[in-house]
Amino acid sequence: MTPRLSVARKLDHCTVLGPGTRAVLWVQGCPLRCRGCVAAETLPFAGGTPYTVTELADWLCALPDSEGVTFSGGEPFAQAAGLAALLDAVRQRRPDFGAMAYSGFRYETLSEGAPDQRALLRRLDLLVDGPYVAARHAGLRWRGSANQRILALTDRYAHIPSQPDVSAGVEVSMEPDGSLSWAGVPPTPGFREGLETQLAARGFVLHTQARREA
Ligand code: SF4
Repeated sequence: MTPRLSVARKLDHCTVLGPGTRAVLWVQGCPLRCRGCVAAETLPFAGGTPYTVTELADWLCALPDSEGVTFSGGEPFAQAAGLAALLDAVRQRRPDFGAMAYSGFRYETLSEGAPDQRALLRRLDLLVDGPYVAARHAGLRWRGSANQRILALTDRYAHIPSQPDVSAGVEVSMEPDGSLSWAGVPPTPGFREGLETQLAARGFVLHTQARREA
């Protein structure tokens, strides 16, 4: 049976969560509880929006400006079978589609993990691994704390780990209904709380959940 995915949020275009311009898929649910996690709404396994692999593959293949996708969360490796199937489905139509993922688990753990986790690992070009550690927060590229590594798993992004390691910042965008959403890894602790407070004071609503298109 084709796996389904529980999605917290998805974004068509993003330049701050991986190389180039790419789509981002945040899955719903994470077994870890890192203190200071910036995506608290994605942690419960209940509450996501269900999508079939075909629906998500159609979405990604309809984004010609995106050179790949980044899986975030939540914990992507908690839905490894579905994400591996998604990459297979996309690459049938776009063989050059890049794939990056975040994980709260270290590469060494994942590489000895369940078969579906190893299958997802084999399909990734880039992995940011390890839990967020608030005490080691730093303004680094695409990650929040200094213990987290950027690992090139294929040649596609092999040059990335040697490039300057500075924060890519965050992006704020307006949804069609006028609400705002943001993406990225905040370079400073407490960024999200400060942003939400300032936006609320100006009457803006922050959008953090996946919504199905009509
Ligand atoms: S692994 Fe990531 S999503 Fe899960 S609690 Fe830690 S920071 Fe949050």
